[in-house]
Amino acid sequence: MLETLTLTLGMTMTNSYLVTDTNTQEAVVIDPAADGHIILQAAQKRDWDIKAIWLTHAHFDHIGGISAIVNGLNPRPHIALHKEDQWLYNTQGGAQFFGLQMDPCPAPNFELHSKQILQLGAYSFEVRHAPGHTPGHVLFYCADEELMFCGDVIFYASIGRTDLPGGDFNTLIESIQTQIFTLADDTRLLSGHGPETSVGFERINNPFL
Ligand SMILES: [Zn+2]
Ligand SMILES: [Zn+2]
Repeated sequence: MLETLTLTLGMTMTNSYLVTDTNTQEAVVIDPAADGHIILQAAQKRDWDIKAIWLTHAHFDHIGGISAIVNGLNPRPHIALHKEDQWLYNTQGGAQFFGLQMDPCPAPNFELHSKQILQLGAYSFEVRHAPGHTPGHVLFYCADEELMFCGDVIFYASIGRTDLPGGDFNTLIESIQTQIFTLADDTRLLSGHGPETSVGFERINNPFL
């Protein structure tokens, strides 16, 4: 079974997802927002083995927990990021832009690209490039489970900001139309902030689309 644990962490209330194949106990962390020790504890309590960190994008509120997780595990999990967000990662996810201080995170060592297939136990996730909020933003889509982790591209009845460096409104709308709204209505959308939604609900109710 694919099990997802949602931990809402940090001052921007970011959803960090601990996802596991309960048969193999292999797990990934999608967007460790902050408080990496809390994510680690949650995994260890369940005997889940974190093998990778998958980043939807490199904003500071999605990467703050990386150091604690990587330093707390042996072997160290991979850190997966799209190359077009590397510049953002290198500046601590734009923390300074918000007047925040943040220590540099360990470097990503696994490059994500469009249409790549990532394996988590028996489950496959397709990487979908969806720029607009940031240039290197990606979505993680599990077709078998009709489930998508969509970071800050789309939220319940809302969409991601496009006023930050590297953002572009028209690009974001196009990403949603081509990478999300092409999926079945039942597809669950697990966003970087706020409650879960679905493709069908957003198709009808999202005021930006
Ligand atoms: Zn963001
Ligand atoms: Zn965010």
